[in-house]
Amino acid sequence: MRHNIYSAKPGIHSEKRTFTFKQNKMDYQHTVTKRFLDYVQIDTTADPLSNTFPSSMKQKNLARLLVEELRTMGVQDAEMDEWGYVYATIPSNSGKKNVPVICLCSHMDTAPDCSGTDVKPILHKAWDGAPIVLPDDPEQVITVEKHPYLKERIGDDIITASGLTLLGADDKAGIAIIMDFAHFLINNPTIKHGDVRILFTPDEEIGRGVEHLDVAKLKADYAYTLDGGPLGSIEDETFSADGVTIEIHGISAHPGYAKNKMVNAIKVASAFIAALPLNEWSPESTANREGFVHPVSVDGGLEKAAINFIIRDHQTSKLAEYETWLKKILDEVLAKFPGATADFSVKEQYRNMKEILQTVPFVTDYAIEAMKRAGVTPKPTIIRGGTDGSRMSFMNLPCPNIFTGEMAIHSKHEYVSVQDMEKAVKTLVELLQIWEEKAD
Ligand SMILES: [Zn+2]
Repeated sequence: MRHNIYSAKPGIHSEKRTFTFKQNKMDYQHTVTKRFLDYVQIDTTADPLSNTFPSSMKQKNLARLLVEELRTMGVQDAEMDEWGYVYATIPSNSGKKNVPVICLCSHMDTAPDCSGTDVKPILHKAWDGAPIVLPDDPEQVITVEKHPYLKERIGDDIITASGLTLLGADDKAGIAIIMDFAHFLINNPTIKHGDVRILFTPDEEIGRGVEHLDVAKLKADYAYTLDGGPLGSIEDETFSADGVTIEIHGISAHPGYAKNKMVNAIKVASAFIAALPLNEWSPESTANREGFVHPVSVDGGLEKAAINFIIRDHQTSKLAEYETWLKKILDEVLAKFPGATADFSVKEQYRNMKEILQTVPFVTDYAIEAMKRAGVTPKPTIIRGGTDGSRMSFMNLPCPNIFTGEMAIHSKHEYVSVQDMEKAVKTLVELLQIWEEKAD
């Protein structure tokens, strides 16, 4: 359909580019759509309340299918381990010795925020821009007004769910893209590349995606997650994150005889929360590079109350500033309740992956170059959150995040453009060639 998007860039092996173009145009049929439609119908909802790993065993159903498909393609070492991770290798076909091993990673689970059971994907071919009424719940209408990104996708093939569930493009778009890419590489042996390690993880959505990841077994030098949104987005910067727990201790007494004795921890906690500013340092009042201090839960009684905060900023040093500020407010409140005491504890959650990626800037630069070669305009973006890539970056595996086209994620309006997914596949084909070209 749209294979004529490769363009020769001055100074970069233009002979080879022309060749790639012909290969794609003449020989290659994408398999990404068929795969995507299959994968989203397998329920892989993560369970945040579970103590098992993976959190829901049904995630292994998708893992098993992926292993089978990879083996059928000829990826002989494809395997699922006891935790449900899928590992596979496409061996190098380069004569060069020092091509870095590149890992491509996506997550198999879907978010528990919205049902992922009985997903019925609908393909809207050459979508004309008219509102998409989802048939199983006609109240769910996807429009360009609500989803401005769709304005630029008119004419694309758009995939949605049917109204009762999320779609699961997050992150089955990433999985389908990597699988189509693997299929392409195996069927086009003239395209030179180093070892490619494929990794599919469970439980990313509940923040446990790397819990049992075996980095030593993975043996990759650099990685990319395929879990980004809009066409061209490339993310190499996340928040840095701490969790803060404040435990307030009151003094209990029989309420009938409590005068001058009782100190109610609930009231201390309420006063403390009321003392937090509303118009700054909150998720609801910050954007772009502004960080925040965010109470996420309160749990308490007369004697003891606990408040949990998440603290976020792109600049790690700012986290300590927020924490000092929280302590100051806490001390002021405690002074008004003689007898009340509090424990303040900080737990590191994750760190901005930019701290690692800026030491190896070529990892992001090659992805940007790959997009340009694939005819995609790169859009470097920062993430106001974390990814498995931020954790992997600190596990000696620098890992930016590449677009997949997944949009309106974790909702019944979730959608993806087939053409965006195909461009992500092309980007990967270019990316692996760039790594090979740059090696000695
Ligand atoms: Zn995701």
